[in-house]
Amino acid sequence: MTRQRVCVLGSTGSIGVNTLDVLARHPDRYEVVALSAMSRVDELLAQCLQWRPRFAVMPESAAAARLRERLREAGSTTEVLDGAAALADIAAHPDVDTVMAAIVGAAGLAPAIAAARAGKRLLLANKEAIVVGGALFMQAVEQGGATLLPIDSEHSAIFQCLPEDRTTWHDRIDHIVLTASGGPFRTRDPKTLADVTPEQACAHPNWVMGRKISVDSATMMNKALEVIEARWLFNLAPEQIKVLIHPQSIIHSMVVCRDQSVLAQLGTPDMRVPIAYGLSFPERITSGASQLNLLTTPSLTFEEADATRFPGLHLSWQALRGPEGSTAVLNAANEVAVDAFLNGRLRFDRIPALNAQCLADVQPGDCGSIEALLDLDARTRAHALTLL
Ligand code: NAD
Ligand code: MG
Repeated sequence: MTRQRVCVLGSTGSIGVNTLDVLARHPDRYEVVALSAMSRVDELLAQCLQWRPRFAVMPESAAAARLRERLREAGSTTEVLDGAAALADIAAHPDVDTVMAAIVGAAGLAPAIAAARAGKRLLLANKEAIVVGGALFMQAVEQGGATLLPIDSEHSAIFQCLPEDRTTWHDRIDHIVLTASGGPFRTRDPKTLADVTPEQACAHPNWVMGRKISVDSATMMNKALEVIEARWLFNLAPEQIKVLIHPQSIIHSMVVCRDQSVLAQLGTPDMRVPIAYGLSFPERITSGASQLNLLTTPSLTFEEADATRFPGLHLSWQALRGPEGSTAVLNAANEVAVDAFLNGRLRFDRIPALNAQCLADVQPGDCGSIEALLDLDARTRAHALTLL
């Protein structure tokens, strides 16, 4: 069997590390040709020494220079690339078959679109890329002939419930139900949300994840981004996407078919399952996840998402009904808000308000190119900063 040549963008993050864990179980099927990280030189160095990729990418030249030096000292032949375009170049490289897009935030937009245009097997964890990219992103997938595989557990669940032939999806689906754990503050008195600290917000009950998505899970802005992600991945109308709180995170999402048959995907909460599926689709490989035992699992329960506790959630449908580009505005505002919260400059309960304000204030305009979208992203960030 020829091995799939894999590029992991964001290899030092939570998804990146889980991806390498799955890849390590299948050396006969996969080869790592490129790794990338933003700033953690020591971690990327250790990964390079273990995996011996042809390329390592660090966008910032100072960090890249440190990595280059350390690799040389260790006798490694891995080539270090840097600069603004290096991530997109590696994602489209002819010697790469599969790209794991696991960068956090809109910073991953250009490399994800580059992989799509180059017709790669594109494993999309970086939900912000599709939330910002929207129609342009899906066009790139279409025109490039890429195979787009969702890694977000909810979207992987929906994808696993649907037939391989995409062209029949539209006629089968009545609606989908994205499940949400409700995060760490599902039962906390809403009046005390003003006092939430970054440490409390990042302590998710069921998943260990990067800090940005952890805060998003606590505000449920993560689910808002996932509603938008689902709209594009499955070509659904906003009203065909529903959200249900399911605190045990065992049912990862559901498809309600035209005939009212409900298909669900279940499993222990472990991101290696959707990652393994993305890597092996349409086959199945071992993932390292433990077996689901329904006899020892706490009872599965469901609740409605409380709009007072989670005011950010509904901004997704609002943005989807707004002018094109509104979802990019929502994402940029949220990235600024989360960063400000993590740095002690914004109260936790002000995050949704800042997002709503930006959605009301910023006019999207042109969304026809990556440059236009990144310009809109920058304009929104600048505006959000003035509101802090
Ligand atoms: P993380 O913070 O743990 O890792 C992010 C990675 O991206 C790191 O390797 C970092 O070096 C790199 N990075 C950060 N900023 C960058 C930039 N400006 N340019 C280039 N590289 C940059 O995040 P994570 O939890 O692994 O999440 C990654 C993506 O996957 C996010 O979009 C998140 O929403 C999504 N996701 C994560 C999980 C999860 O369980 N962690 C689940 C579903 C979806
Ligand atoms: Mg998810």
